[in-house]
Amino acid sequence: MADPIKAVRGTRDILPPDSALWQHVEQAARDVFQRYDFHEIRTPIFEDTQLFARSVGEETDIVSKEMFTWEDRPRAQSEKAQSLTLRPENTAGVVRAYIEHKLGETGKLQKLYYIGPQFRRERPQKGRFRQFYQIGAEVLGPPSAGSESPARDAEIITMLAQLLREVGIRNWELQLNSVGCADDRARYNQALREALAGVKDKMCADCRRRAETNPLRVLDCKVPEDQRIIESLPKISAYLDEPCREHFNEVRKILNHVGLRYQVNERMVRGLDYYTRTTFEFTHGGLGAQSALLGGGRYDGLSEGLGGPKAPGIGFALGLDRFVLALQSEETVGIPDQSPAIYVAPLGQGMNAEAAVIARDLRKQQIATELGDDTFRAKKSFEAAERSGAKFILFVGENEIASEQFALKNLKSGEQMTVARAEIANKLKS
Ligand code: AMP
Repeated sequence: MADPIKAVRGTRDILPPDSALWQHVEQAARDVFQRYDFHEIRTPIFEDTQLFARSVGEETDIVSKEMFTWEDRPRAQSEKAQSLTLRPENTAGVVRAYIEHKLGETGKLQKLYYIGPQFRRERPQKGRFRQFYQIGAEVLGPPSAGSESPARDAEIITMLAQLLREVGIRNWELQLNSVGCADDRARYNQALREALAGVKDKMCADCRRRAETNPLRVLDCKVPEDQRIIESLPKISAYLDEPCREHFNEVRKILNHVGLRYQVNERMVRGLDYYTRTTFEFTHGGLGAQSALLGGGRYDGLSEGLGGPKAPGIGFALGLDRFVLALQSEETVGIPDQSPAIYVAPLGQGMNAEAAVIARDLRKQQIATELGDDTFRAKKSFEAAERSGAKFILFVGENEIASEQFALKNLKSGEQMTVARAEIANKLKS
């Protein structure tokens, strides 16, 4: 026999009952987003490769090493093949959609969220997958709508703390930084380039290259031997201009006032080139090496970089896979019970049809119902009901149908009662 085919390395199936935990996080996110006036956007899973190269940045790990990219078949011989990429993140797609649909012309802030899979060819390990899931949100719009305001940064971070609370994740830390505007970044990059000139030969191959091409990315390096040098490099805070410094101070002031704990971490520049000013990351103690639960930041020049209008914005992406792992490590949060309330057991040949009507009526009345099979005897029906996790079992035999009176048994307590057909749903709800 041929070997069975397995899921590709770095991808996986989410099975019940774990999927209930995923739904719990997704539902909590939708609820919180709605209260903060965010609305869902769904963008394609694949995009033109150039979108990511021009936004995330050619020198980032994501674009230089991790994208799933292929050439599409040209529609005509004269046409050039288009390079396509499975999205490694969703901010670029959202900003592309903002530009394409001229959302800026509404004159109001766009508050958008998404939930969906992302793809990166990373080395798989605990908490790191090649197909993983992100929930993210973005606020962007013309400056006249207040999109540059530090109030937006603080609101999105406050919303995340609220989401963590409602999902049930407690053991988190918030790290905050400002990477300044494009001019600050240029001056800082120059300072890094100069500081790295004398030491880069002692660093890894990636750092040696980046010291020339994009020195900021050296701060992302995870190679243990390079860390001492990186710690000694100039700090970004010394290169922020007055408006950026003020912006950062204002974000911190609001966060202090709403009572959010955070640490300023000047090395946290995040692995994507489009960030400006505020960057942040929430980490979790129960996740091991891949401790980042979520990350985000401001991207004031991204829309223009993609050929769109001026549309400052801020957003984040949280790793759903890691949220679920964090929840499982907290032990306080159990898997939500999605078992049916009742198991309807047809008793005797020919009772499937009657049982189907009863099951349909209960389901219409919002009762989660599992339905058996008339080839089962009473004992097998009890076993199937137990296995389904149902709290009650109801037998549907000829006598019950004729009298419209049914025996309803509580499978946990063993208590049994006789209930009129019209009263079954009410009994279960009470
Ligand atoms: P990033 O888009 O790199 O800023 O990542 C945002 C969040 O997505 C991270 O904090 C992680 O929680 C999650 N994430 C990123 N890459 C992966 C991956 N390969 N597997 C699982 N989660 C990931």
